[in-house]
Amino acid sequence: MGKKMKVFFKDKVWKKMRKVSKDEFPNEAASLLVGRKKNEVFKVEKMIEAKNSQRSRISFQIDPQFLVDTLDKFEGMDMELIGFYHSHPNLHAFVSERDEKFMKLWPSRVWVIGGTDDRGEVTEVRAFVWRDGVEGVNVESKA
Ligand SMILES: [Zn+2]
Repeated sequence: MGKKMKVFFKDKVWKKMRKVSKDEFPNEAASLLVGRKKNEVFKVEKMIEAKNSQRSRISFQIDPQFLVDTLDKFEGMDMELIGFYHSHPNLHAFVSERDEKFMKLWPSRVWVIGGTDDRGEVTEVRAFVWRDGVEGVNVESKA
């Protein structure tokens, strides 16, 4: 058993996470998390909003070209795609079956979920990673 991983957010990223979740409500918001990963710690420096091409309350899909463009953009900038964020409108921040399928495709990336209330305000943030199964990641602070 490895140590439990941690994820840190910059203050402005944390604010953006709350904003995009509310803006997209009642649909799921989806964003790419860019930053640095060192040992067991993810440091989120930037959040890049990806339009949820499905416009759905229960799922999201990120345009593959957008994903590739983002990977290209940060290559050589000492930053990388370290994870994904999506909201669960009016739901808890749990790992759905669908989430689990995506997580398996992107092992070692942090999967951050924001549960919102019935007005789209984020009330719960939880993070997970896939390492031989779903593992919880500590949401440490807004570093
Ligand atoms: Zn989900």
